[in-house]
Amino acid sequence: QRTQIAIVGAGPTGLLLGALLHRAGISNVIVERCRAEDILARSQACVLEDDSIAVLNAAGLSLGAQALRQDSLLLSVDGRSHRVELARLTAGRGLTQCSQTELTRSLMRARAAAGMHTIYEAQQVSLHGFLGADAPLLRYRKQDQDHEIRCDYIAGCDGFHGVSRASVPPDAYRCYERLYPFGWLGVLAECPAAAPELLLAQHPRGFALSVMAGPQRSHSYIQCSLSDRLTQWSDTQFWAELRRRLGPDLGSTLPVAPALDMSITPLRSFVLEPVRFGRLLLAGDAAHVVPPTGAKGLNLAATDTQELSEALAQACRGDHAEQGLNNYSERALRRTWRAERFSWALTRLLHSFPDQNSFDQRIQQAELEHLLDSRAAQTVLAESFVGQPASAGG
Ligand code: FAD
Repeated sequence: QRTQIAIVGAGPTGLLLGALLHRAGISNVIVERCRAEDILARSQACVLEDDSIAVLNAAGLSLGAQALRQDSLLLSVDGRSHRVELARLTAGRGLTQCSQTELTRSLMRARAAAGMHTIYEAQQVSLHGFLGADAPLLRYRKQDQDHEIRCDYIAGCDGFHGVSRASVPPDAYRCYERLYPFGWLGVLAECPAAAPELLLAQHPRGFALSVMAGPQRSHSYIQCSLSDRLTQWSDTQFWAELRRRLGPDLGSTLPVAPALDMSITPLRSFVLEPVRFGRLLLAGDAAHVVPPTGAKGLNLAATDTQELSEALAQACRGDHAEQGLNNYSERALRRTWRAERFSWALTRLLHSFPDQNSFDQRIQQAELEHLLDSRAAQTVLAESFVGQPASAGG
């Protein structure tokens, strides 16, 4: 088989890149190790910047009624909630809450409707020849048969545990990583979130977050210990703990429903430098991971795919050959490090760290008070959340 771009991974990054390339007239095949149903069974919150919505629209996708746009967010500190007016502080920019599962489902449907080729359940995917001058090669095994795809470029969109990054010689890159001493226990439920807006809560018992995942669904998360197991938590215990961390303001009216899904996620910051290796280019979680506190993961993926699709289209058409691809790594890393800094700072500000002493706690308190009292500090927070317009280099 021959295609212009072979994409590894049918998560949101791979699917979005495939849609943008298709729109640009560039042929592509996605090779994915799981079944489509397994990908759709993963449930995660999804808060998108206006620029990410614009990238989805450019890919031909409209989120419609499942997406809820808000001009503000709520910050609950020690049980008292405060509204941060995002749009007023950033000349009209806001955040859209939706479901990552529904977003992925829409991308899968659009791909199938356009006749674009996705190979699910591909085993033993391996990447070859991407550092050489010739066309690279993707190999995989399916139904006891070996297959090969020849292509001009390979896009590694296979997430943090994927094969793309693992295929690069270790001396060709550098990794920067931080693991956090806690995780998030998450519940997806058929009930509204604690508030219409994205809600982030700092509390001495630990962080909490509540967000809509469609008109009648919500995701809720509480900071938990890394040693916690799902079997230790019942629905009732989860909602009681969330209610405690939200305090009387929002906890007393918290809607609850049986959990449709419960998961524990460890928190990690990770950056790979560079993200281009000859004819292999990485995007999304394959290249960088942020703790989800700042809701930046998919937003970074959207900007990666937009820039990468344009650069790949340019290279495939031979316009200015590889000028866009040559710049991809540097531009992506500049954006990544900004999002990493914000996600790390917000995680530090809103979580309880097990090794925090009383001095650290007072500093955290002072930082939160400064944020609530200062319009300038809230503007910085709002700008980081909604993202800066592309023209500002954000
Ligand atoms: P993935 O979703 O990991 O997809 C990679 C795909 O590659 C998978 O389908 C996998 O099966 C496939 N694959 C892996 N290995 C191979 C292989 N060897 N061969 C073939 N295929 C392979 N982001 C936001 O922007 N806003 C939020 O509000 C938000 N909330 C979040 C909440 C939580 C709890 C978590 C954990 C994350 C959140 N994120 C959020 C981040 C977001 O979910 C990720 O950034 C996003 O899923 C990354 O997509 P991806 O396609 O790059 O990677």
